[in-house]
Amino acid sequence: MKRILVTGGAGFIGSHLCERLLSEGHDLLCVDNFFTGQKSNIAHLAGNPYFEFLRHDITFPLYVEVDEIYNLACPASPIHYQYNPVQTVKTSVHGSINMLGLAKRTGAGILQASTSEVYGDPEVHPQVEDYWGNVNPIGPRACYDEGKRCAETLFISYYYQSRVRVKIVRIFNTYGPRMHPDDGRVVSNFIVQALLNNDLAIHGDGSQTRSFCYVDDLVEGLIRMMDTPKDFPGPVNLGNPVEVTILEMARKIIDLTGSSSKLTFKALPRDDPRRRKPDINLAGEKLNWSPKITLEDGLRKTISFFEKSLRLPTTRLNKRSGKPAFGKTG
Ligand code: NAD
Ligand code: UDP
Ligand code: UDP
Repeated sequence: MKRILVTGGAGFIGSHLCERLLSEGHDLLCVDNFFTGQKSNIAHLAGNPYFEFLRHDITFPLYVEVDEIYNLACPASPIHYQYNPVQTVKTSVHGSINMLGLAKRTGAGILQASTSEVYGDPEVHPQVEDYWGNVNPIGPRACYDEGKRCAETLFISYYYQSRVRVKIVRIFNTYGPRMHPDDGRVVSNFIVQALLNNDLAIHGDGSQTRSFCYVDDLVEGLIRMMDTPKDFPGPVNLGNPVEVTILEMARKIIDLTGSSSKLTFKALPRDDPRRRKPDINLAGEKLNWSPKITLEDGLRKTISFFEKSLRLPTTRLNKRSGKPAFGKTG
């Protein structure tokens, strides 16, 4: 049994990671300030004697004794990270310094949830780890992108300077149950809009691409990365290389939900990356990892979650075939 700290543990990915680590018999300390996380994400873990929650903002020092740290604390959705850009930078920079100081003092391994946003609007496709990226340092996404880039710099500096056992993963768009319905990210937005039969709002013409990874696959990759030898700090891309346009994603979600929603088109936000797809050869080689869950299966599970959380009936009919869109899910 290891004593494991998960920062951002009440968030979307963090809550799945806590669940998985607890199921493996570890002693969990979940730290979160509830900026975007929710109590309901971890309520089901509260009765477990090996689960402990601490409301704390990682931009302030934290003194605890642990063996491993997964540093996930940071708002991830553009509307949330742009709400208070200075706090977003502080979370990535001051927060990382504090967590790295904690790792240095305790000798703990520490994994940083970095992001495909470090590649910005990429000129290299698919994105490989040794591509340095194309980021606007003063644009609306900079507080997140540059914050995460500086966090990577801090992690690699603590690795070389203080021999801290650091692990950097660059996470590509991840989706699944427990995404916040008002989170603003494309998968949750489209599913909620489709289930309510509201129009799906596409930014731009929808020809921009993303590659979507189901959360269980991602969590597996995070744990495998933590278990790699000390002399391998990364960075490693974790994501599903199946690339889709946002328009294709909208149509797929309408189909799977059997919704009567139509598509509408809005202005593309500034600096919105044109395309994104991970090269995951390094993850294959070093972690023996690749995603297993198809986009359709992952979307079905996510739709089922939103149906329950929006309290909608669980059997829906496909509007064209008249048959259940994906069977009874409840
Ligand atoms: P999320 O917003 O659901 O979770 C982030 C959690 O961090 C929330 O619970 C929030 O309350 C907490 N938090 C924010 N600032 C904090 C602070 N200063 N102190 C303590 N807690 C704080 O987002 P998520 O999708 O679960 O993302 C988790 C991590 O993975 C983030 O670091 C994000 O940058 C990274 N990531 C996510 C994706 C994705 O597609 N979901 C992609 C790339 C990287
Ligand atoms: N820190 C922390 N918990 C610890 C150890 C350190 O939060 O258990 C913080 C502390 O606030 C410090 C930061 O981590 O400012 C960086 O620590 P480090 O030892 O690298 O640097 P220093 O203390 O010399 O500034
Ligand atoms: N997007 C969209 N409609 C929405 C939300 C997002 O068309 O309701 C677009 C967004 O502009 C981007 C893509 O979908 O091109 C993915 O957006 P998200 O915020 O999920 O992730 P990120 O841009 O950070 O990859």
